[in-house]
Amino acid sequence: MDEVVAGIDIGGTKIAIAIETLAGERIAARRLPTQVKIGAYAIIENVLQSITEILEDKQVKLAAIGIGCPSPLDIEKGLVISPSNLQNWDNFPIVKLFKKRFNVPIVLENDANTATLGEYNYGAGRGFKNIVYITVSTGVGGGIIINGEIVHGVGWGAGELGHTIVQPDGVRCNCGSIGCLETICAGVHIARRAKMRLAGGEPSLMNELVLNINEVTAKTVVEAVRKKDQLASEIWTETCRFLAIGIANIITLIAPEAIIIGGGVASAGELLFAPLRSFLPQFVSMIPLEKVAVLPAELGGESGVCGALALAKQVYLESYQVYEV
Ligand SMILES: [Zn+2]
Repeated sequence: MDEVVAGIDIGGTKIAIAIETLAGERIAARRLPTQVKIGAYAIIENVLQSITEILEDKQVKLAAIGIGCPSPLDIEKGLVISPSNLQNWDNFPIVKLFKKRFNVPIVLENDANTATLGEYNYGAGRGFKNIVYITVSTGVGGGIIINGEIVHGVGWGAGELGHTIVQPDGVRCNCGSIGCLETICAGVHIARRAKMRLAGGEPSLMNELVLNINEVTAKTVVEAVRKKDQLASEIWTETCRFLAIGIANIITLIAPEAIIIGGGVASAGELLFAPLRSFLPQFVSMIPLEKVAVLPAELGGESGVCGALALAKQVYLESYQVYEV
């Protein structure tokens, strides 16, 4: 019977499951909606059931499981600790539930780090040893890989790139600090600035793209930038400039081989990457920038589940090595 690993990416709206052989052949993939109403235990029971069905259907044996989940987590105890987008998942013993059903090595990791591992192993980060992944979406998150290993740091807190300070006289962030990168570059904050200026009466095409100013999103801003709207372009340029400052700080600190940018805002493509590349030289002086690749992520919504698979393989190999010794 072939041995396989399972990768699970748990999100606020959907859960992705993928099963691969140890040789890397994807034999099954499923997506389940995160039915918040039925509660954490019933949601995970559905995931366990799906995996059991796949294993029986494909006649394969499970060797290890990797799970990506929104933080905060207690990785050592295998607990999910009340993430903002998973209500009532307070101190939820996710690893214990998986272990009870499948007695195999299991590893839990935060979703930003699994996305980083996904891009590193399967996406834009292939071939590099040191990368930084940044997701610019509703929030701004990220992960750091040095010499092939995720950097966890004290309290498993490393890699919170969205909460590095770039504007100390700016606005307060959800995390409590003032002027985090997230308060400028996250989708909700791009929309916030646009709404504020539209409400102040500044002329803009954005008024015609929505019925009501309150409906303006980062997508509306991007659409207006493509149509050469002055106000939208100012907001977008400011976003790109501050993202460049945040990225420049990371480059100066870590000197990675590649910065990989994903997430909904990054799907603006060259509209984001072109100004980013032109701003970066202003803010990086100590590192040869031509040696740092600034690349779009390749896996889209798949990065998390791919990273979970990579983690499962890693934990399987580590457990195997332990038995060999
Ligand atoms: Zn913050």
